[in-house]
Amino acid sequence: MRKVTLVEGDGIGPEITQSVQHILEAAGAQIEWDAHEIGLTTYEKTGTLIPQEFIDSLENNGVALKGPTTTPVGGGHRSINVSMRQLFKLYANVRPIKTIKGLPSRYENVDMIIVRENSEDLYKGIEYKVSEGVAQGIKLITAEASERIGRHAFELAQKLGRKKVTVVHKANIMKFTDGLFLESVRKVAANYTGIELDELIVDNCCMQMVTKPEQFDVIVTENLYGDILSDLAAGLIGGLGLASGANIGQKQAIFEAAHGSAPDIAGKDLANPTALLMSATAMLDHINQSDVAARIESALKKTLANPETRTKDLGGTLGCKGFTEAIISNL
Ligand code: NAD
Repeated sequence: MRKVTLVEGDGIGPEITQSVQHILEAAGAQIEWDAHEIGLTTYEKTGTLIPQEFIDSLENNGVALKGPTTTPVGGGHRSINVSMRQLFKLYANVRPIKTIKGLPSRYENVDMIIVRENSEDLYKGIEYKVSEGVAQGIKLITAEASERIGRHAFELAQKLGRKKVTVVHKANIMKFTDGLFLESVRKVAANYTGIELDELIVDNCCMQMVTKPEQFDVIVTENLYGDILSDLAAGLIGGLGLASGANIGQKQAIFEAAHGSAPDIAGKDLANPTALLMSATAMLDHINQSDVAARIESALKKTLANPETRTKDLGGTLGCKGFTEAIISNL
């Protein structure tokens, strides 16, 4: 049995995490869940966003599966996700974007992995109100973090037999910050023969993604661009309900869906658990339970390929519970 920290999260979080727990159990995953609350729920009860018990749990277990957490827009508390990524030094956010065979989507043959730098850039949170009507945010880029994410992208490309890494930047305008990021990735790329380095300005990348997404293999980019591009890419394959993700650090890893807590559909049995389920299969690979992951992926594909067993966001009729049962019966 492998102990894994679990956070149900807010909004649709509890529905989708319970769905994923049922499927993993039915597939024979050897996991002992260590459940904790973080974010809005704990904040309202205790005034703490990330309780010490959760920190201890993740430090001991090394791995967490996390449902989405709500962050107030504008004022209120700082994003729990951004705080956690900094606390545990989860420097890489990895989001695979792949068209699912048999599921109608606008594009075919999309198969890219977005590797987003997760620790600095404008998300570092260095923001000030300078005076009434004037605010300032600082974009922080270091060679150390840029080279680290560059290496992560190239190592991943090498491990998965990928042929091209595209570095996405805006160094034509932000010559010091994005210039340093681009220079750092170029430096890393020189050590990997057999993997092509492609360079693309972020606005052009957005256009290329919607006109010819199948050209992308691995993308490496800064924090803000990566956040936006990965949601754009999720839209290419059928929406946020299908986009999984992982936050990887030196010692810990948190697996979570790309989407948020979807308050508009929370508690209505409308949530699609696929993104969290795919994040969980990536987690199973990470903890050496790949045979269970493969069994789940094959049952998921079979379920999604049948129009009768799809969730409503994908044009089907099933709710989260019915979809979960359909996957379990396909295991
Ligand atoms: P969202 O991703 O929660 O929702 C966007 C749209 O996609 C909504 O219409 C929603 O109903 C739909 N959707 C999302 N996930 C779905 C699923 N699994 N099945 C079916 N439909 C789904 O984005 P938002 O509304 O901008 O954010 C809501 C909250 O989530 C905010 O507080 C935000 O800060 C937070 N958030 C958290 C995370 C995280 O915890 N990792 C990520 C993104 C946003």
